[in-house]
Amino acid sequence: MPAATVVAAACVAAFVFYATTRRPAIQAEPGPSPPPIRTVVLITIDTLRADRVGAYGWAAARTPAMDALAARGARFTRAFATAPITLPSHASLLTGLYPPGHGSRHNGMRVSGGPATLATVLREQGWATGAFVGAFPLDRRFGLDRGFERYSDRMPRGADGRLLNERPGRAVVDEALAWIGGIGDQPALLWVHLFEPHAPYEPDPARGPDGRVVPALVRYDDEVARADHETGRLLAGLGERAAAALVIVAGDHGEAFGEHGEIAHSVFLYDTTLRVPLIVAGPGFGAGAPDADVSLVDVLPTVVAALGLPPRDVDGVSLLPLVNGHTLPPRDLYAETFAPLFDFGWSSLRSVRSGPWKYIAAPGPELYNVAADVAESENTILRDGPRARDLAARVAKYSGPEPTAEAGPAAPVDAESRGRLGALGYVASSPSGVPGSRPDPKDRRELAARMAQVVTGELEGAALRAALEAIVAEDPRNGQAQMRLGYALLDNGDLRRAEQHFRAALAVSMRTADVHLGLAMCFVSAGRPGEAASALMEARRIEPGNPVVEANLGSLALDAGDMAKAVELLGAALLIDPDLHQARFNLARALARQGRRGEALKEAETLLQRLPSQAPQRAEVQRLVDALR
Ligand SMILES: [Zn+2]
Repeated sequence: MPAATVVAAACVAAFVFYATTRRPAIQAEPGPSPPPIRTVVLITIDTLRADRVGAYGWAAARTPAMDALAARGARFTRAFATAPITLPSHASLLTGLYPPGHGSRHNGMRVSGGPATLATVLREQGWATGAFVGAFPLDRRFGLDRGFERYSDRMPRGADGRLLNERPGRAVVDEALAWIGGIGDQPALLWVHLFEPHAPYEPDPARGPDGRVVPALVRYDDEVARADHETGRLLAGLGERAAAALVIVAGDHGEAFGEHGEIAHSVFLYDTTLRVPLIVAGPGFGAGAPDADVSLVDVLPTVVAALGLPPRDVDGVSLLPLVNGHTLPPRDLYAETFAPLFDFGWSSLRSVRSGPWKYIAAPGPELYNVAADVAESENTILRDGPRARDLAARVAKYSGPEPTAEAGPAAPVDAESRGRLGALGYVASSPSGVPGSRPDPKDRRELAARMAQVVTGELEGAALRAALEAIVAEDPRNGQAQMRLGYALLDNGDLRRAEQHFRAALAVSMRTADVHLGLAMCFVSAGRPGEAASALMEARRIEPGNPVVEANLGSLALDAGDMAKAVELLGAALLIDPDLHQARFNLARALARQGRRGEALKEAETLLQRLPSQAPQRAEVQRLVDALR
């Protein structure tokens, strides 16, 4: 372990916050007399396409748990996400609101603290509430922990000490079962999030050692099978609670494998990534397959109605009438993605689905008759101008004004803040803030597909650097690609060029702590501690309380010989994240240099206990322990 190497940062999307106004609510219909539901189990399976689940018609699927649930419950045949991105989609599911209502327009953009969530509603009823999530985009810092007494979101570290962005469903379900087994017979809401189907797709080990040659879709199916297995294990572990449990299984968005030129998800709003499975089983939800268009915003009002609680003022409606053989009044379903804007500086996309029609607002708008053209292959916009104009107006009503890419992170962009931020240069007041002036994502679909390969971890090493070089050559204003290239070059020891690309990311208004952390790593490695400190202070301003930033400031203080400051900063970082191994190593060294050998030894021994058994750093930590004894 080198002296005070800057701790590696996980790449986190831009932190931007946007204040919005709520649209008029659609009243939920009152449900039948309250069924005796004592447990609500919500299982969200990340990146799960409906059409790869057996109950939804995929003959080769290995999804017996979901299929069994669908056989005894309501399988909604046409359910849609509100965004093809994890955090905004989950926020809609838990609040019943479209993204403009809950404020999270992209991963990393915190859910606002105002709206009730399924957890706050049931907590108010005296229910036990526990959440167990499988990936970083749902970390508590993004605001979905409200109302949960227990919110388990700690990700493990890899053998190299870096924080991983996901954890196995097995670990998530183990924790969830331990929790629900320990709360007695209290009524309970349990949310479990399984990340398996998200890229990179790991093949079934039974396929042999040469996993790389297995096609992506086959590996994806393997991951779906794994998530289903954990779903089955969770449901089997409910024991006596099972009889009075309402079980909901939903995907948060789909996944593209080349449809419309798309790879993965987040950039487009085609049904490839918006259509999800939604299965609800339990008291009051008998076998059936309602074929109305429904949205994940309907989950909260449906649960509320099933429990006989007063309806909430939300965007979704209760689906109980559908389950009971009735129809719902005609309505629009809204969806959006701001990933193109916040990640790449391209235009956002917003869509509304209304009867057989789906309209996508973009620089080049699209209109599909999705009843007749399920694949969304024929854009009929030129043949149906009046309908397109009507749907465009409705999209605008749902989405409100567009947040700008340059909006300051974690800052509410109301009129006053906009003016003040504008004076500081954070909000675009130029025509670049006008959606139409930005590139249409579909004109960059090939670039987006290559970017998806990079982001999803399917490329590494020289291949990763080459792919990023090609992307920034073609699209130099792509801040995400510039930053990722900076990190790839840094990993390869090319400090000078890494710094250039971090600076290029800053030049296109990529305002995340990660860009500044990357720059700080360049400066530390190049022996420029003053500049490293400035970069870290900038990172702290953007993201206060980021333990990686505090740990790096502490390591700089250690190098500068300021032991008191080093101990304070490193200690603060470890309070937030006790698994920052490099920080604990440096804390032990700083304490030792202060002559506090006993405390130093305690930290070094704690570190030895916390390090994974195969971690390469163990030998050096052991030497420190021996020296301190
Ligand atoms: Zn997701």
